[in-house]
Amino acid sequence: MNKYIEIGYWRTSKDKFDDENCHLPAVEDYIQPGWWDLIYGSFLGHYTGNMVHGDELKNIVIDYLDSFDKINHFRGYSGCRVCHCHNGSAERTDGKYLWPEGYSHYIKEHDVIVPLEIIKRAWNKLKK
Ligand SMILES: [Zn+2]
Repeated sequence: MNKYIEIGYWRTSKDKFDDENCHLPAVEDYIQPGWWDLIYGSFLGHYTGNMVHGDELKNIVIDYLDSFDKINHFRGYSGCRVCHCHNGSAERTDGKYLWPEGYSHYIKEHDVIVPLEIIKRAWNKLKK
């Protein structure tokens, strides 16, 4: 049993349900432009003491995800499910969550939303 909570793993194609990753969510369902300002206004502004804006918070989360050492190096690259660029070949973990190296690419380039728990962890690490 994996000791980590996995986030940011997507099925290969939204429409193909016969691929080996068909048990994973479709990234298209998590793309939501404007989401950062939306949650900032409804929740995170209060949580962060109104110290950052939505886009800044997004960058804080991206920096957080990219700040951990790479583990579990794989042969070959994972292709981005949206733009098909080469998007990393390893995983990272903060000790509780595990995500593909290219997870931050989806957030930065494709407006993929992230669990609030990750935002809280990123913010708390920054404030330490
Ligand atoms: Zn992409």
